Amino acid sequence: MLYNVSQLLMEPTGSTRRFQLDEPVPSATAPENPATGRATGNVRILRTHHGLLVNATVNVQVQDTCARCLVPYDRRSTLALEEECYPTVDPATGRNMSPPDEAEGVVHIDTRQMLDLSDVLRQYLLTDQPLKTLCRRDCRGLCQECGADLNTEKCKCDAPAIDPRWGALAALKTENPAPP
Ligand SMILES: [Zn+2]
Ligand SMILES: [Zn+2]
Repeated sequence: MLYNVSQLLMEPTGSTRRFQLDEPVPSATAPENPATGRATGNVRILRTHHGLLVNATVNVQVQDTCARCLVPYDRRSTLALEEECYPTVDPATGRNMSPPDEAEGVVHIDTRQMLDLSDVLRQYLLTDQPLKTLCRRDCRGLCQECGADLNTEKCKCDAPAIDPRWGALAALKTENPAPP
């Protein structure tokens, strides 16, 4: 996600560039495999007084593993990115520039005026990661006894699938049977 913004930085405030985005992104549950996900969308870069304002709408499709039934599934979401970026080198004079105080050290434009949005996208992807990845809201999960996928089969055990959150309570109940 590298964009050459040297021309844009020479242009007056208000100038814009638009780019199409189509990038592989790593799966949240298998970050070592970058080929499993895809980010597509539109990037708009606006020349501001101090730097560049990046706006992007990114459609993300990543492969996750369901936390209940352990089956891989495609998760889709749409991210709205907004990030202000500052040059490290003055485009006109070639002198080193320090970004304004509010930039908090976030600089995504290198000395060759290449804008790198990979880190920005990574941040947004992390924030977008759900606490619990579910293939669908009412996923029935696996049988606690035999491990059968209860979405696709009805196993022979009577044991109802226990939500792991209630597992500790269920154990307590068996340890302390109610007095007759
Ligand atoms: Zn599932
Ligand atoms: Zn079972």
